Amino acid sequence: QCAAVCPVGAIAERSEWREVLNQLDSKRKVMVCVTAPAVRVAIGEELGTGPGSVTTGQMVAAQRALGFDYVFDVNFAADLTIMEEGTELLGRLRTAWGLEPPAAADDDSSSSSASSAGRQGHQDEAAGRGHHQGPGPLPMFTSCCPGWITTVEKSYPELIPHLSTCKSPAQMMGAVVKCYFAAKLGRQAEDICLVSIAPCTAKKYEAERAEMLREGEGQDIDYVVTTREFGRMLRERRIPLASLLEAPFDHPLGESTGAAVIFGNTGGVMEAALRTAYELAVGQPLPKLEVAAIRGLAGIKEAELTLPDDAPPGLAGRSLRVAVASGIGHARHLLQAMHSGQGPRYDFIEVMACPGGCIGGGGQPKSRDPLVLLKRMGAVYNLDERSTIRKSHQNQSVLQLYKEFLGEPNGPLAHQLLHTSYTDRSRTTLPAYSTWEKEDAPQH
Ligand code: SF4
Repeated sequence: QCAAVCPVGAIAERSEWREVLNQLDSKRKVMVCVTAPAVRVAIGEELGTGPGSVTTGQMVAAQRALGFDYVFDVNFAADLTIMEEGTELLGRLRTAWGLEPPAAADDDSSSSSASSAGRQGHQDEAAGRGHHQGPGPLPMFTSCCPGWITTVEKSYPELIPHLSTCKSPAQMMGAVVKCYFAAKLGRQAEDICLVSIAPCTAKKYEAERAEMLREGEGQDIDYVVTTREFGRMLRERRIPLASLLEAPFDHPLGESTGAAVIFGNTGGVMEAALRTAYELAVGQPLPKLEVAAIRGLAGIKEAELTLPDDAPPGLAGRSLRVAVASGIGHARHLLQAMHSGQGPRYDFIEVMACPGGCIGGGGQPKSRDPLVLLKRMGAVYNLDERSTIRKSHQNQSVLQLYKEFLGEPNGPLAHQLLHTSYTDRSRTTLPAYSTWEKEDAPQH
């Protein structure tokens, strides 16, 4: 299979990497870089180290060499996404099963003063805007792929209530950096220039969506740079990625678990969500962390989990059916089968628009290697296996973020900052990417 074909027509990369270099040179703003899970198994390949090579530490070192003041990890926000999306799924399941919602966690107000001040202002706004709504219907669909979101809004608007309201990990990271981290620095959101490095051309459009904007604020993510464009930046500045000494991400938004990195693979969001939702619901870990049935490059995969007999009342013995679609064509087939009443009823469905998931994204390196996706996929799973912590709800920095700033998962402030809404665009004739410039399109 050939990677790097955008499934939703966002083939004209609006290239902003030279602007990013200018911003770095100008030193006018605090420069913050965040990087998506799938980039670390592909940037080395872009620069000649071969498919499947993992260069996380060198990638961070290269970002520092470019001049970024802070280097954080979108994987942190992938763990945060699981906290939000897993809680949302459990809420929908409880409603569908006729169960009472769990008791709300106590709000801990013993937080640092800078974060408390920022939190109080945001909480007042969240309460005033009434963001917190009841659980939506089943099946719930994942929402971290802008290619899939565009497909739903244009072709399947009736599915909008079924989409998780969670922003993508990158956009969650944007909100956390511009609100929480800015407050920690004692700065305003506009003092920070946030650059997101992604495997995805559609992320450029996602960052501009009106539904992502907070009232009175600019975009949370100022620039989106693809893996290939990141490679061009390093070539331009003659930064030799492969020979750099490894460097760590900055604290606290650089900590992540193995569950976060598998977001890069098809099935990874689902597997990460199951690791957390199962354990939070039944009080014990998944019998096996690797959910083999939803791994691999098949276009449609499914799995069924049965909750144990000693699960809390109302949950014992219930089954959870999930499906994973990789590629928009396979998602359409799955929807057709569901519409015709064939096959099982699902509770939770992951859709990623690119074959293989983000490892095969439109901004990733082009390759003639027929095994390239499998090599990248293996590298991602290897990173998970080597992680000391492999479940999102055990990310201590994420837990601290809730304690210090957000409150509880799916709470009012979390909803205001980390969730979004969708728009029926089925009558819109203009392509979603019509404003994109075609100049400086990628050289393949
Ligand atoms: Fe972007 Fe990943 Fe979706 Fe492809 S699968 S459109 S790379 S978010």
